[in-house]
Amino acid sequence: MPEVRFEVDVDEPPDEQPGANPFNRWHPDIPAVVDADPGETMRLEALDWTGGQIQDNDNADEVRDVDLTQVHYLAGPVHVNGAEPGDLLKVEFLDMGPLNERSEFGFTGTFSQQNGGGFLTDHFPDAAKSIWDLDGYTVSSRHVPDVRYQGKIHPGLAGCAPSQELLEEWNEREQGLIDKHEENPESIHNHPTGEEEPPVANPPTKDGALMGEMDSDEAEQAAEEAARTVPPREHGGNHDIKDLSIGSTVYFPVYVEGGKFGIGDFHASQGDGEITFCGAIEMAAYIDVKFGLVKEGMDKHGVDHPIFEPGNRGPTFEDYVTFCGYSVTEDGEQHYIDSHVAYRRASLQAIDYLKKFGYTGQQALHILGTAPIEGRQSGVVDVPNACSTLALPKGVFDFDISPENFGGHEDRGDISVTDNPLG
Ligand code: ZN
Repeated sequence: MPEVRFEVDVDEPPDEQPGANPFNRWHPDIPAVVDADPGETMRLEALDWTGGQIQDNDNADEVRDVDLTQVHYLAGPVHVNGAEPGDLLKVEFLDMGPLNERSEFGFTGTFSQQNGGGFLTDHFPDAAKSIWDLDGYTVSSRHVPDVRYQGKIHPGLAGCAPSQELLEEWNEREQGLIDKHEENPESIHNHPTGEEEPPVANPPTKDGALMGEMDSDEAEQAAEEAARTVPPREHGGNHDIKDLSIGSTVYFPVYVEGGKFGIGDFHASQGDGEITFCGAIEMAAYIDVKFGLVKEGMDKHGVDHPIFEPGNRGPTFEDYVTFCGYSVTEDGEQHYIDSHVAYRRASLQAIDYLKKFGYTGQQALHILGTAPIEGRQSGVVDVPNACSTLALPKGVFDFDISPENFGGHEDRGDISVTDNPLG
């Protein structure tokens, strides 16, 4: 086992960790707490993305009330010796897994429309929670019966720190979107959800900021401009790509000296799109990483976003039921080749299909958020409709979900749903 260079204690708050504190903002001045040479392998541990706000119980209140200013808690930053702006930081994901005997559960949440929302928040405005048992890589949930499979474990979030210049660019363009939305919500949303709709972007806030090991005065000032970790950006960040599993090699653009690499938001499994938003099986985890450098790699390879070679450790599923959606809303409104609308329709089709097997809509949503579904942009040229598909692996169910073998309705209980106090 490689040496643990970043350690967490899931029973302690994020700012009282045994070693260095994790960090939950992107800023070039957050000091590195781990040093690595190219070629070096090490183990990093990470808290779950909320830092322990959601526990193993049957109540969804924690999901409804989650403090989203705190997310995501990341391991690092790691300073890779010799890394300079313009390089690509090569990171091999050698191994990862749950923190056995310290935290052996994962959680999935539907965020309430008033607090975070999600892809289908207009259909599922209330908070819901399912708890998953992590039996090594095999997952199952008392809240979602008759589903058990090997998950596709991966970090939802990884990347290098932005330069000051890049940070300012992010803040400017995201504030521009917020302003545009305030002026005319319809110009942003293809499915407006009314007055209580979730934000279109999250501007910097010092509320909830944990700036790693930065001195407190300096930290408070930096937090006012530090980028939230919510979206993916050109450095990587919260890309939630399920295929970045064991055996993957990722090349991250470097923007500051040393790279200042951070990683976290581990998922025991996730479907393409992470459609419940808190949609994967969220977990605390370890990862074994090996660092390398491609000097001037951004220029050499012509990229300024991450590139990766997926691992091939699986799990692999051979049989699927695939659902189609087009860019026409549920209300029959025609959109112009919009893959987002099309993927919503494919997802809603899959949810309605699973309801016929006895799941509730929320259970079905959690299945699609967590099982390794394959989401594809099948067509983006056949005006006016984009076509998206959602392929659901049959192997994640204990029974046959084939259209041919429709077995009728069975009561499969429900997950915990908490009414929205504001809704
Ligand atoms: Zn996550």
